Amino acid sequence: MKKKVFCGDVAIGGGSQITVQSMTNTKTQDVEATVDQIRLLEETGCDIIRVAVPDKDSAKALKAIKNAISIPLVADIHFDYKLAVESVNNGADGIRINPGNIGDKNRVKEIVKACEEKTIPIRVGVNAGSVKQFYLDKYNGLNQMSLVESALEQVHIIESCGYDNLVISIKSSDVKLTYDAYQLISEKTNYPLHLGITEAGSFLNGTIKSAMGIGSLLLRGIGDTIRVSLTDEPQKEVQLGRKILQFLNIRPYGPNIISCPTCGRTNIDLVAIVNEIENRLKLSKKDISVAIMGCVVNGPGEAREADIGIAGGIGQAVLFKKGKIISKIKEDNIVEILMEEIDRM
Ligand code: SF4
Repeated sequence: MKKKVFCGDVAIGGGSQITVQSMTNTKTQDVEATVDQIRLLEETGCDIIRVAVPDKDSAKALKAIKNAISIPLVADIHFDYKLAVESVNNGADGIRINPGNIGDKNRVKEIVKACEEKTIPIRVGVNAGSVKQFYLDKYNGLNQMSLVESALEQVHIIESCGYDNLVISIKSSDVKLTYDAYQLISEKTNYPLHLGITEAGSFLNGTIKSAMGIGSLLLRGIGDTIRVSLTDEPQKEVQLGRKILQFLNIRPYGPNIISCPTCGRTNIDLVAIVNEIENRLKLSKKDISVAIMGCVVNGPGEAREADIGIAGGIGQAVLFKKGKIISKIKEDNIVEILMEEIDRM
């Protein structure tokens, strides 16, 4: 089992619940916009939020942001150790750095000292782009070995300053490389792992890459906290992260809608019904499964495990619970009656 660390009051690793993270895309010094976005992400199910700290104004803004939100706040720092120290002093619950780009060891020591005083974790975040030439030469290019050794070198820099309150991430935009690298580093270290596919792309591509990469690692028991990275709204990152955990039966996240792909036997407008039900259940926290099937030939049987569902006929549908048919519904009333039944559950 991995070591357990605490980011604010949220545990990472050591058998704790797997958490979902995201990152704001507002200007951090714009406190109002940043707080508004974080609150929306909290409501959506974000457990830990990270903000970019590229300058002094951003580091200064952390105090007000921290006071206005409920989830732990992580400061993302590149290059400037003073920004890291200031972020910690302004209430950050964790920081993310790549010690390699902080420079002189004494500067890293200053960061460690500040973190140690407040017992806050440092995420050592190494990306495929930051692997040193030395390791690329040693291992014949970019692969899991060069990525992992490069990451461990960064970890050792912090350890040599006498600190081990750490989380590691070693992201790449290549799904297979990320998968192999996390597997390898998981064998070599006991620190909790932050999973993600970096620069995963747009909503469609990023969803597929993240689900494959993060999902396959979680299925192997690897990973303690996750971040889906999308070129899209952070709210979608949180929704996808939570759905990955939901569909692996790791954490519930509202109703699970099961629906068939439709075929020549479908005689109702299944796509419209599924979209409408999904939309109406968007904010529901009920941990139930709802099946919406095109026909009775396979519908209730295939969706036997669902808590409730409908299966279409000609101009009508049957309503069933746990595979048992309860009643018949006219096509026009399917959405309303199904929603009424769900509301009663
Ligand atoms: Fe076709 Fe019925 Fe299967 Fe849907 S449930 S794909 S309509 S056979």
